[in-house]
Amino acid sequence: MERFRNFYEDVLQNLYDGVYIMDRDRRITFWNRSAERITGYSASETVGRACSENILMHVDERGCQLCLGHCPAAKAMEDGREREARIYLHHKNGFRLPVMVRVSPIRSGQGDVVGAVEVFSDNSVLETSMKRLKELETQAFSDALTELPNRRYAEMVLQTRQDQSERYGLTGFGVLFADVDRFKRVNDDYGHDVGDGVLRMVAGALKYGVRDGDVACRWGGEEFVILVGAENREMLAGIGERLRAMVECSSLDTEKGVLRVTASFGGALQRPGENFTDIVKRADSLMYASKENGRNRVTV
Ligand code: GH3
Ligand code: MG
Ligand code: MG
Repeated sequence: MERFRNFYEDVLQNLYDGVYIMDRDRRITFWNRSAERITGYSASETVGRACSENILMHVDERGCQLCLGHCPAAKAMEDGREREARIYLHHKNGFRLPVMVRVSPIRSGQGDVVGAVEVFSDNSVLETSMKRLKELETQAFSDALTELPNRRYAEMVLQTRQDQSERYGLTGFGVLFADVDRFKRVNDDYGHDVGDGVLRMVAGALKYGVRDGDVACRWGGEEFVILVGAENREMLAGIGERLRAMVECSSLDTEKGVLRVTASFGGALQRPGENFTDIVKRADSLMYASKENGRNRVTV
């Protein structure tokens, strides 16, 4: 029998959910490791104490103390039925922790209720905070107007590329810098909202114009940076040329008629060990060369 007792205790100890068992007087007789992890209270701090001593101080959504009347465990022992409730328990660090608890009465061989077992998990909390984290991450790395990855994201990728180049001598990477031509005029002639529409249009042209694995980002204002895998100048120039054409043949319907814009591009291939700000600077100044040579062109 002792062998089985240990076996079941092991199982209970290793469940991912928090589990505790109480007797009829709501005195805690068992407290598993997940309960310790979730609440911060160790078994030695809880076993032997009565739930009514209110160490966990369960409250419902309105902050009503459950021990003082609506304790799900007490009710389960009274009517012998299981219940489920979303409650807030008191974490050892002081804060309130929302958990889902399931309470089941425990019966003796004769069928009398001799206690209850509570199983609780913090999964829901974990899931919502992970989801929220993902949302925040997405917000932190995307540009609200165009929904392209933003400059912060671009800089992160560039930094990674720089590290890989320093550590392993990896190259085969290039940066295209694109700036919309005479964009100020669009704002002046059509208004800022149409200007925003043009930025979305250019963003779309770049986003769907790049190949798999390459990524177009909004660098700021009417400037975009495209991070591309490219082995040589010809390849980089070819990609730039295709994107330039994609922008040129895009058009936006406005109240004042169909609007088209062009963009000037500069492209630079990563040099071994080159700092990422330097590669962007080179691409930027080559973009200016394109402006000087008449705009709507690619210089690599
Ligand atoms: P160039 O061909 O030499 O690049 O001329 P440009 O007019 O495009 O250059 P300039 O840098 O003088 O103008 C950029 C303009 O972009 C100025 C600014 O008002 C506008 N702009 C920057 N960000 C936004 C934005 O988010 N929305 C809108 N509508 N306009 C923006
Ligand atoms: Mg500019
Ligand atoms: Mg411009």
